[in-house]
Amino acid sequence: MKTQIKNLLELQNIDLQIESLLLKEKEIPKQKEKLRIQEKKLRQEIEDSEKHHKKLVLDQRECERQIAQLQEQIKKYNNQLQAVKKNEEYQALLREIDEVKKQIGLKEEEQIKIMLEMDEANLFFLEAKKRIETEIQQLKKQEEQIDKELQEVIQERKGLEQKKLDFQRLVSVELLNHYLRVKQRRKTGPVVVPLRDEICSGCFMQILPQVVNEIMASEKIHTCRHCGRILYYADLIDAQETVIVPKD
Ligand SMILES: [Zn+2]
Repeated sequence: MKTQIKNLLELQNIDLQIESLLLKEKEIPKQKEKLRIQEKKLRQEIEDSEKHHKKLVLDQRECERQIAQLQEQIKKYNNQLQAVKKNEEYQALLREIDEVKKQIGLKEEEQIKIMLEMDEANLFFLEAKKRIETEIQQLKKQEEQIDKELQEVIQERKGLEQKKLDFQRLVSVELLNHYLRVKQRRKTGPVVVPLRDEICSGCFMQILPQVVNEIMASEKIHTCRHCGRILYYADLIDAQETVIVPKD
């Protein structure tokens, strides 16, 4: 019976390791999700910067178009000047021309401002692009590392699953079925637990003295009537000879 419990504990140990590895397998891809969000933000930064630059180009073109239009207007007025006879009309036209020239001056100032801004935006864009590309490369490396880690965890789990099959063969069918039943019900955590001062260390409920005696004598496999976990007497197991290790 002691050997049975020992083997079952080994099996449980493997199961708990598998459980924690499965948890890791679920958690690891979430890290990648975080990296993807970071990458998306960085790409958005480039995109925004490009958009800003494109807007400035359009603004600049619009300025150019307006200036050309105003210059066209001046040409028209100049032509009209040739045909004008009255001095008043002549003066009025000259004032119009002055007004348009002022407008051109303002537009040209605006254009210079836009061009300076474009230079700045261009510089910013190039720097940002360089920085972001490096950052994205680093993210990709991290992603590869995560993939590698995940593969290692999966490999380790598969190895344990193989080992688990070997240990299952060393436990009696009855005990194994009981173990599997409780395990299925409890989903996580240990199913085989030590008795501690007449208390089940799984649910911390008192165990009947008669049952305690039987467990200590290692006569029968007992389960906790409160939580259903399989109980064993730790001192007895520790004093026992080494576990039978299944062949590879
Ligand atoms: Zn219990």
